[in-house]
Amino acid sequence: MKGQNYIDGRWIDGEVSFETVNPSDLDEVVGSYSKVGEAQIREAMAAARRAQPGWAAFNMQARSDILRKVGDLLIERSREIGTLLAREEGKTLADAIGETVRAAQCFHYSAGDVLRAQGEWYNSMRDGFNVVVTREPVGVVAAITPWNFPVALPAAKIAGALSFGNTVVLKPSSYVPGSAVMLARLLEEAGVPAGVFNLVMGDGRAAGNIMIDEADALTFTGGTSTGRLVLSRAAETMTKCQLELGGKNALVVLDDADLDLAVEIAGNGAWIQTGQRCTGTERIIVTKGIHDAFVERMAKKAASYKVGHALDADTQIGPVCNVQQFNENLQFVKDAQGEGAELAAGGVAVEGRTRGLFMAPALLVNTQSDWRCNQHESFGPIAAVMKVEDLDEAIHAANNCEYKLSSGIATTNLKSAERFRKASQAGMVTVNAPTAGLEYHVPLGGRSPSGYGPRESGAAAAEFFTESKTSYINHGAL
Ligand code: NDP
Repeated sequence: MKGQNYIDGRWIDGEVSFETVNPSDLDEVVGSYSKVGEAQIREAMAAARRAQPGWAAFNMQARSDILRKVGDLLIERSREIGTLLAREEGKTLADAIGETVRAAQCFHYSAGDVLRAQGEWYNSMRDGFNVVVTREPVGVVAAITPWNFPVALPAAKIAGALSFGNTVVLKPSSYVPGSAVMLARLLEEAGVPAGVFNLVMGDGRAAGNIMIDEADALTFTGGTSTGRLVLSRAAETMTKCQLELGGKNALVVLDDADLDLAVEIAGNGAWIQTGQRCTGTERIIVTKGIHDAFVERMAKKAASYKVGHALDADTQIGPVCNVQQFNENLQFVKDAQGEGAELAAGGVAVEGRTRGLFMAPALLVNTQSDWRCNQHESFGPIAAVMKVEDLDEAIHAANNCEYKLSSGIATTNLKSAERFRKASQAGMVTVNAPTAGLEYHVPLGGRSPSGYGPRESGAAAAEFFTESKTSYINHGAL
């Protein structure tokens, strides 16, 4: 694929060319692209600024219809887009198609948001007055996204922003620009007016800084360390921020858990999609009565997955997305062993039919809560198990980590589930379900430093993508 930047309704080349390769087959080039220069980013921001009043005033029904059409097109082309996604990011074709459908659902949901009333009417304390609270678009939204969900994450941000009358400049991860190009083509085809949506490929910091400086709001998903840089830059211009950041999500397994279910949800959370989900399970906290049986079954589960080329029909776990992450994953496992963890399964590079970044799902056992392997995000197919006495110790261990994104518990005891749900400091909690695999119609996000600012998705989107205005109307004076 040859992908260009999309600025003010025109497809243009940038200044510095680059290529992406298929992590399932490093000998295959997936696409050639070019990064924009400073003037082009400024032009994209200016185009979004010019287009914003017109888009905010655009007929409601027509705006909703356009968003719905984007969703329809995503479903219609889900195999084509999913295939590209699988080739550039490495998730299996089934997961990639599923992600594309999820992106469509975000557009369909946001098409409905356009039509929902946005305001409240109050009686006033003053005779002859009333008070009206309305919501207005925040303005120009900069969206910066990571590589692990290259269709669904940009889609959620774009759909939410556009539905409330904002315009958007998107900068995708440099590892996965092709998916963003596909999305931009569909937005154009659906009739999004020139300047309302713009796509720029650029270096994170250089492009990001200009976008943050010139936008009214920034919606960012990525690593916590990048989030800190972004936040300090945004502080200079006081740009409104929504940051969805890293996780080190814990799953607690209690003695009374259904063992089959516990193994299923732990395996899914930890290893499916190559562990490259921000909500993936990286810590598994197991009470002593079930610990040994659980570990034995999990080691077998890890070994049972078919790791391979993302487009092969029988592949369950695709490659790691890029060489840097691949090397970091292998080093993470070695470092964990260095601090005393035992490797019960995987954790090594495996050969496939092609020259890909394949890694066997890793299970680290006999770890301690304060070890590095239970404190630092790995963002790979790596889970660390720690043994605890009881629920109290499990809650303490689950909360003993700076990240606060997602957490879960496997138990058949409702009282224990409810205690954990209340005590968990994570932004999202699951009971008898994987810590990952969340829904688009409800708020998504973690507490700081896993998240910052208003949550994404569902009703929470209005909080970020609009500003409220309180008006006092003295109708009695007339
Ligand atoms: P990064 O933080 O490395 O990059 C994310 C995006 O930020 C990329 O587009 C990158 O551009 C850009 N960027 C890099 N530096 C800057 C900067 N100084 N200013 C502005 N933008 C910048 O994350 P990854 O792509 O490696 O994604 C993995 C991370 O994302 C993990 O930590 C994961 O937990 C998190 N994540 C969180 C989610 C959540 O909802 N909480 C969901 C999904 C992922 P470029 O690629 O050009 O460097």
